[in-house]
Amino acid sequence: MSDGTAIADQTADKAAAATADPTKQMIDILGGMWVGRCLGVAAELGVADVIGDGRKTTEEIAAAVKAHAPSLFRLMRALASAGVFREEGHGVWMNTPVSGLLRATVPGSMRAAAIVTMSGEHYTAWAALDHSVRSGETAADHVLGKDIWAYYREHPDRAKHFDQCMVDFSAGIVAAVLKAYDFAGIKHLVDVGGGHGGVISAVLQKYPKLKGTLFDQPYVVEGARRTLELFGVAERCDRAGGNFFESVPAGGDGYVMKFILHDWDDERSLTILRNVRRAIAAPGGRLIVIDAVIPEGNGPDWGKLCDVNMLVMTGGVERTERQFKELFAKANFKLTRVVPTESPLSVIEAVPV
Ligand code: SAH
Repeated sequence: MSDGTAIADQTADKAAAATADPTKQMIDILGGMWVGRCLGVAAELGVADVIGDGRKTTEEIAAAVKAHAPSLFRLMRALASAGVFREEGHGVWMNTPVSGLLRATVPGSMRAAAIVTMSGEHYTAWAALDHSVRSGETAADHVLGKDIWAYYREHPDRAKHFDQCMVDFSAGIVAAVLKAYDFAGIKHLVDVGGGHGGVISAVLQKYPKLKGTLFDQPYVVEGARRTLELFGVAERCDRAGGNFFESVPAGGDGYVMKFILHDWDDERSLTILRNVRRAIAAPGGRLIVIDAVIPEGNGPDWGKLCDVNMLVMTGGVERTERQFKELFAKANFKLTRVVPTESPLSVIEAVPV
């Protein structure tokens, strides 16, 4: 980091310290866990869908979601204090723009994201963050007795939320990626670990001549048809099931990987990258990695928190630009550029050498 940046950082820190009451800051940070968990429960119960565009009493909601009305009231009041739901007269509830995102089917829905982040396997694993920090081991493996992908294979009820969460998360991110990065010139795009197809569907929709292959674990691609159809791209997109530690589909001149390399340590990431290197058209192919790129300095950055999520959930890691460059070089790729987007993720582009 240059001296200039360090000084700017210190000045910003001092300015923040001068205006904020540290005790209040601490209380707010700790309360964030409570708010997040309340949100997760409201999402699981499906409260926002029951309220819809109208108004509902606590008793009506409790009856619909099978909850204990006085306790549900307390949950809703706490959430309303954070801008999630609004009370209009005693015990009458409406959605706010934020709680509206907890509805299952609205565009931009984040219900699955709230369920995945704040309940079940993620919540349990996060309780063992201390285990990861003390030992370096993946907390999820420790508490679930298997890695998260094996867990999802055995728990379709939770995998369903995870896969939907990825589609929903991808919607905003891929819109930002499409604004910042030009896929023109690619003829056949392979999405490696593409989940239910949130990314490749949006790219194919924007580029009508592009052909696609969605590649993921067999049970995952099986469930992907709905998203491809929703975007009207099912006819231009094959689905291939497999294991990216063994091989990835050959014949593409573009290989996109979003939220893949951050799931794995360097050794496992290298195996995936080498399999892509074997499959990609060379010369002329393009590797398009979409992940967080960790900046220097103390500034707020979503990737720094997601990195801890990777420590807990997958044993993966968020990387700096230099780390991507070194990793790519070991798999015979050359990093050509990093394109920031309006989302927390960047496009890290590489070509085969
Ligand atoms: N790229 C998607 C999904 C990211 S989640 C998106 O950003 O929306 C990570 C994906 O990796 C999951 O869909 C998971 O099923 C897939 N995955 C995990 N292990 C895999 C393996 N061994 N082979 C192929 N895909 C795998």
